[in-house]
Amino acid sequence: MDNVSTDLQTILCRDERRRGMLADPDLTGDTLLLAFALDEVLEIRCEQGKKHLGRMWIREVTILAYGPNSLAAQRSWVKRTIADDVPRYEPQRGPGRATCVAPMIRRDGPCGHSATVRFFDIVDPETGTSRWVGLCRRHRDQERLSDARRAAWVANGKPTPPANTGGVLRRHLSDVLDWNSVYRWACPERPPMEGGRAPTPRRPRLWLVREEPFDNA
Ligand SMILES: [Zn+2]
Repeated sequence: MDNVSTDLQTILCRDERRRGMLADPDLTGDTLLLAFALDEVLEIRCEQGKKHLGRMWIREVTILAYGPNSLAAQRSWVKRTIADDVPRYEPQRGPGRATCVAPMIRRDGPCGHSATVRFFDIVDPETGTSRWVGLCRRHRDQERLSDARRAAWVANGKPTPPANTGGVLRRHLSDVLDWNSVYRWACPERPPMEGGRAPTPRRPRLWLVREEPFDNA
């Protein structure tokens, strides 16, 4: 009886995890495909009575996602997809990167002309919060203000806000792999940050719409 209840618990946990993956709007595209393939490998391990993923999981995930052909090429897909998910802080993006954000004197709002320089501007030297901005040729001298904030940020020891991007695989499969090691393997030059953004609200529920059969004869 114990085994039966344990199996049932495992199945319920797995179903809940899959539902969580599908409901997470941050988990899309290649990352979603990789997450589901990894979840499937876990299920296979479970059926085999194994408790660990072992060393072949990358190969198996690749085959599940793309089939056995061109394995070598697709294996780099696993690495690339995980590298894209490294938990990190990224400056806010906005329309300011393509257009000039300099405030106007005689009217409200930014200049809005096409930017000729683009850079990430330290908004708060105490925390390192930053955003991508652009300045047009006419307002380029305002970069000096940003340089002053950047110097203060450097003097403060370059503090970085908590991760606001990536870490979605770790969020759903934290008990499966040592993600710090996996992220370092996929992207050695960018160590994974701790923490991270809380999941954004669930995707809206999908409803099955049933169409009448085509029967115009
Ligand atoms: Zn401008």
